[in-house]
Amino acid sequence: MNGFCVECGIDTDKLIRGMCIDCFLRDRMLMSLPDHVDLFVCTSCGQYLRHGEWQSMARNKAITHAAREAATCIKEGRIKGTNSTINPLDDYNISVTLDCNIEIEDFETPAAAATIVRIKNTVCKICSRRSGNYYEAILQIRTAEKSLSAKLQDEVLERVEKFVDDAATTNVNAFITKMEIVPGGVDVYLSLIALGRELTKALGDQYCAETDESSKLVGQTRDGIDMYRVSYLVRLPDFHIGDVVRYGKKYYRLTRVSSTGGKLKSLNNFSEMPIRRVNMPDMKVHTRSDEMEIADVISISDGEIQIMDPNNYNTVDLLVPKGAEIGETVRIVRIDGVIYYVP
Ligand SMILES: [Zn+2]
Ligand SMILES: [Zn+2]
Repeated sequence: MNGFCVECGIDTDKLIRGMCIDCFLRDRMLMSLPDHVDLFVCTSCGQYLRHGEWQSMARNKAITHAAREAATCIKEGRIKGTNSTINPLDDYNISVTLDCNIEIEDFETPAAAATIVRIKNTVCKICSRRSGNYYEAILQIRTAEKSLSAKLQDEVLERVEKFVDDAATTNVNAFITKMEIVPGGVDVYLSLIALGRELTKALGDQYCAETDESSKLVGQTRDGIDMYRVSYLVRLPDFHIGDVVRYGKKYYRLTRVSSTGGKLKSLNNFSEMPIRRVNMPDMKVHTRSDEMEIADVISISDGEIQIMDPNNYNTVDLLVPKGAEIGETVRIVRIDGVIYYVP
């Protein structure tokens, strides 16, 4: 041993700034806290600002973090194991006492400090965007017909809402700003360009719809980056799954629609055939699925049924697919005065 404390002279090799631990700790403030610490909370969503980011946290946890992160300790030491005592003075001023251990080389010694955490009400960036009608993209949903039917509108908007809800679980910036019924369809204002792009792709595939996009420069951000607003058009086709359509002078029921095309079932022989997406605009809707006539079934034999024509109560024989399950009623269509069973 060849070291000694410059204060008390004790022989030791464990010296901090030339002093033994006892002399070093004597009258020394090991940890300190500022008189007060500001903690910002969004009055709209309740998130707390932490390291420049808005986070969902329990109130007491946010208060403890705010105090803990404002604590400083002597440069020879390190704060370990914090215990906090929270004591609200009123709704906005909370007294916090931190009890810690300070680690100095291989010593550990307790220390305490107190501060007032002041809760500051504000509005986070996302909430201010929401309330400010912020949007980057407009999804324009239209149809090939004059107007979008209420049923289809509900169905599409439900898909849009589900899509944005799913996106919002991983990105708080994803939201629908507003929806507007316009002549011929509906406009959906979206907070992110990516939402518009992804939804356009998804709806285009789901409905075999025509899509288009156009962008417009709307200004610059504070850092001088160009800001665009993008309009996405989704033109829903006239046809829908279940409709009876005419294609190449024959009649079919449209049984499937996908991103690449669809499937048609012949009303004559019930065989199924694929149709490519590029050819689908050539299909003409003959009877919509929700406008089909229903006829009572009188008798069933293999490959054939007898029904009652709902117009004149005559019995009519119809071909049906072999092995088809026939209930008490069937869907029928009339083409050039002839009745067909709709598979
Ligand atoms: Zn000493
Ligand atoms: Zn907020």
